[in-house]
Amino acid sequence: MDSMKKHAIIPIFIPHLGCPHSCVFCDQNAITARQQPVSEKEITDTIEQWLSTLEGRGLDKVEISFYGGSFTAIPLELQTKYLEIGYRYVRAGRVDSLHLSTRPDYIDDEILTNLKKYEVGAVELGVQSFDDEVLEKSQRGHTADAVFDACRLIREYGFDLGIQLMVGLPGDTKEKDIRSAEITAGLRPSLARIYPTVVLRGTALADMMASGEYTPPGVEKAADITKDMYRILSDAGIEIMRVGLKSTDLITPGTDLGGTYHPAFRQLVEGMIAREDMEAALIERFGPAENIRAAGHLAVTFASCGRCVSNMSGHKGVNREYFRAKYPELEMHFTSDNDIADNTYIVVK
Ligand code: SF4
Repeated sequence: MDSMKKHAIIPIFIPHLGCPHSCVFCDQNAITARQQPVSEKEITDTIEQWLSTLEGRGLDKVEISFYGGSFTAIPLELQTKYLEIGYRYVRAGRVDSLHLSTRPDYIDDEILTNLKKYEVGAVELGVQSFDDEVLEKSQRGHTADAVFDACRLIREYGFDLGIQLMVGLPGDTKEKDIRSAEITAGLRPSLARIYPTVVLRGTALADMMASGEYTPPGVEKAADITKDMYRILSDAGIEIMRVGLKSTDLITPGTDLGGTYHPAFRQLVEGMIAREDMEAALIERFGPAENIRAAGHLAVTFASCGRCVSNMSGHKGVNREYFRAKYPELEMHFTSDNDIADNTYIVVK
């Protein structure tokens, strides 16, 4: 569960066996070469296991989410088999809806009509970037126009739309990533995810890195870009379901050859946003930095909603360190108030 609402997702990994594409960052073909299609029993066992842990948690919504490859790019018969399994749980009232992620160029009337039959609620698109040069260098095999067409159709059929973006792909720049976030905001999806690019062993991206053709952004730069994208999306009222990969995505610091993976990436990004907003609030209240320093000892209480309190200290207290170095006589206190909007930081006294 990675959202502020009480919304749980039961993840079902559907590897894309024999995916004909060759996105430079993807290691699916290396992984799936050793795999069999997921069996019905594996899926029902996973769902039952999750349901038993989710019981009694007062959740607003529970979804079964098919992720991994590109759900609608697998043969229709196999999609239907998986959808039927999930739909049984929806009909029985044990989960609320089905959710899936796929490629923008595998969305058409036939595919969406089939998803509608099984009352799929949300379709997420692995968009990655709206920049054609980035898409080309990443060998995605489609252009940004395919994304616009897919988003329109998904909307027309009445699905909730999700958009996944990546940061730091080949050919990317901060400006391009921010532009992708702005275009996403304009498309008004219900939800979004932002993933910094990780370089996995055995991928074309690993070769590009080794030859010097690709330079990974690293944690700092990726977090700085993601912070600005996060602001754009959250200001547009889009639910940001995920920021960065989790260790449960089978990524650990050692498996990312590019060094951009961080296990608490979302906290890093939200902490940076908190620091910027806290400093802006401080300056608005007490004047420019020189005035605050010249004022001598100053006790200030910052507030946020309960969920965001830890963002004020920052990951491992990095924000406290920042303020201590810049304003040595500032005595900081933090408090929570759930009337304050999510991701908003203010000075209360
Ligand atoms: S990211 Fe998806 S579409 Fe691209 S190669 Fe991997 S499985 Fe195929």
